[in-house]
Amino acid sequence: MEDCIFCKIINKEISSEILYEDERSIVIKDIDPKAPVHLLIIPKKHIESINQLEDKDKDLISEMLIIAKGIAKDQGISENGYRLVINTGKNAGQTVDHLHLHLLGGEKLPWA
Ligand code: 5GP
Ligand code: ZN
Repeated sequence: MEDCIFCKIINKEISSEILYEDERSIVIKDIDPKAPVHLLIIPKKHIESINQLEDKDKDLISEMLIIAKGIAKDQGISENGYRLVINTGKNAGQTVDHLHLHLLGGEKLPWA
C-alpha cells in the first residue's frame, strides 16, 4: 500500500491531472492514453482489484459508475459512446494493483 502509485496520487504525493474529486473517489487523466479521452475513476480506498471487493463496497462501486456517466457527459462523449473497463489480474493486463475504472472514448474504439 505504501508503494501504491494511485494511493500516492490520491494523497497528492505524486502530481496528476485531476478532473474530479470527492470524499471517496478521484478521476485523473491516464498518463499513457489509449484513446482521445482516457480517464481513470479511482476509489480512494485501497482495494487491489475486483477480486478483493467486499459486500460493504457496493455503494462505492455504484458511485464509480455514476461518476463515469457524469464525466462522460462533461467530456462530450456520452452520445457517441464510450467504454468502461476494469482490468483484473495478469491475464487482463492489470498493471496497478489499486482498483480503477478506465473511461475510454472520443473515437470509434477497436474491440480486442
Ligand atoms: P491497468 O493496466 O492496471 O488496467 O491500468 C493502469 C493505468 O494506469 C494504465 O493505463 C497506466 O497508463 C496508468 N498509470 C500508471 N501510472 C500512472 C501515473 O503515475 N499517473 C497516471 N495518471 N496514470 C498512470
Ligand atoms: Zn492504493
